[in-house]
Amino acid sequence: MATPLDFGFKNYNGYGSHLREKFNHQRVFKVIVDGGFTCPNRDGSKGYGGCSYCNVDSFTPELSRKLPDIRSQVEQGIERAIKNYRAEKFIIYFQPNTNTYAPVDRLQKLYDEALAVCPEQIVGLSIGTRPDCINREKIDLLEHYAQKIDVDLEMGMESIYNDTLLRINRGCSHEEFLSALQLLHKSRLQVCVHTIFGFPWETEEMMLEYIHEINRHAHIQFVKFHHLHIVEGSIMGVHYKKSPFKLFSLSEYTDFLCKIIPMLRPDIVIQRLFGISDWNLLIAPNWGLKKSEIQTYIDKAIEKRGIIQGSHYLTSN
Ligand code: SF4
Repeated sequence: MATPLDFGFKNYNGYGSHLREKFNHQRVFKVIVDGGFTCPNRDGSKGYGGCSYCNVDSFTPELSRKLPDIRSQVEQGIERAIKNYRAEKFIIYFQPNTNTYAPVDRLQKLYDEALAVCPEQIVGLSIGTRPDCINREKIDLLEHYAQKIDVDLEMGMESIYNDTLLRINRGCSHEEFLSALQLLHKSRLQVCVHTIFGFPWETEEMMLEYIHEINRHAHIQFVKFHHLHIVEGSIMGVHYKKSPFKLFSLSEYTDFLCKIIPMLRPDIVIQRLFGISDWNLLIAPNWGLKKSEIQTYIDKAIEKRGIIQGSHYLTSN
């Protein structure tokens, strides 16, 4: 017998339905742009080597990497999205590295260039960044774009524990994350928070606390949840190969998601439930399924177990 999931109804606020509702059922697609940035924990201003789990290439599709200029990246990204997904509207997504890590005039030049490609079809700007690379001036610049289109600022919180942030060479404390959130209080920018679950030294109890922290901040509108995965070209990858440690299996991670989704504030939109990298870069855990198959596995489990976003929000908070 068909279930609501078969008709696209999920028991949580998924990003797909959020976009469909917001943009009148048009097909909206993110176009990834590489602005040529680096990160303060890569270039030496806060450290070298980047976050220990990170290989920037692992979260940017191969086709989006290393195109010559912003205009070509946007044009080709849009062309691909129309051809492969029949996309109608686009969100320009500055994704790799820290996309606010430059003086404001340079940021403006890059963002303007991307948004100028076909303005009538661009409905949003999404900026992936770190909490320590945001200030009033940069927020003002982004708010200027937000007068016309949706602008979301995606910040890596990753963990709420400074001990973890230190161990992963994040170069940024949880207090800095909170200060950035404070700056964004009452801003018209949409705030998206990125987290990673499964650092081997964090217990389940510790990870559940992330959700309380996210729930506390009313202006967090989106979340992206990731399980820890180990990729080639990362510092953690080198350590893992020498001495492997426990990572989530798909069923364990699904069980975990089934615990946190009921705790999550019901109005928050979940942009992503898990992370995935190119096969050739993934070291572990290899769940042996394609992205769409993992999504279906998790969605079916959520439906079957009657998990509903926010159903324990009041009691758990
Ligand atoms: S995770 Fe983000 S901040 Fe950390 S090194 Fe990678 S791109 Fe830079």
